Amino acid sequence: LRFPLGRSLMDHVKGRPGRVVQALNGVSLDLIQGETLGVVGESGCGKSTLARCIVRLYPPSEGSILFEGQDVFAGDARADRSYNRRVQMMFQDPYSSLNPRMTTGQILAEALSVHQMRPEPEIPARVSELLELVRLPQDAQHRLPHEFSGGQRQRIAIARALAVEPEVLIADELVSALDVSVQAQVVNLLLDLQRDLGLTILFVAHDLRLVRHVSNRVAVIYLGRIVEIGDSETLFSAPAHPYSQALLSAAPSLNPDNRGNATRLEGELPSPLNMPSGCPFHVRCPHASDICKSTIPALTPFEGCGEVACHHVEEINAHA
Ligand code: SF4
Ligand code: MG
Repeated sequence: LRFPLGRSLMDHVKGRPGRVVQALNGVSLDLIQGETLGVVGESGCGKSTLARCIVRLYPPSEGSILFEGQDVFAGDARADRSYNRRVQMMFQDPYSSLNPRMTTGQILAEALSVHQMRPEPEIPARVSELLELVRLPQDAQHRLPHEFSGGQRQRIAIARALAVEPEVLIADELVSALDVSVQAQVVNLLLDLQRDLGLTILFVAHDLRLVRHVSNRVAVIYLGRIVEIGDSETLFSAPAHPYSQALLSAAPSLNPDNRGNATRLEGELPSPLNMPSGCPFHVRCPHASDICKSTIPALTPFEGCGEVACHHVEEINAHA
């Protein structure tokens, strides 16, 4: 799956129809089969917009999203159906996506029959298998979404996504609303399923500790741009972009003993309606120079382990 998107994207801000925000800007990245790509950044940076573009909820106003080389917005109805099945999205709040009047069994049966995954007589057996896959008891079939805990509801959402045998799962803050102990269970379930079923996952979350645990690669987004992307362990242990450095050192979950002397992330995230010129991070960056104010840095390979968009990445990371 590739998404070399162009400049601006419509951001359908609730209650403000027609407002155009440059929610993502020149984002170009590949999601590689079998990997988990983490996407991190402050809230409002475009993480969710990226996830929603990939599942075709928002069409990009420029650029394209390619799946196996095909533009996912240019296909016919049949291609759309196939893409909608193969790439499944899961949201933070399964309340909003699970019909409150349908039992778990009905929810899973509906997903199976809409996409004609099984002939009618085989559906009950497949519903049982799906519950087993996500480690829910069989009697869950007869219960309504509100009868489950938050973690169990996310398991139902995962089972529904798996019902249509997807290849790619897009998880947007999948476990953010759950207690830490429950988060671990759901995330470990997801990792087991990924291994057993060969899934590719895009994992969007603001919890860096979780992203580190889950991801093979990580993309750091700032104001709708990827500022750094690379192997997860390398990026978390030695972030190269000043924004990644600030974001990671400000995270108490990654630096439990280091809260006091962390690099401070100064200032507010600027509004996407009022984008800074040049490097989008220059107003908050301690290393900013004149070129940073005028010229947007391109994402460039750095030290063979990732790509960084910063004019001064060499100096900043020079090892004395
Ligand atoms: Fe800072 Fe300049 Fe690098 Fe942007 S390009 S992160 S402002 S040093
Ligand atoms: Mg979001």
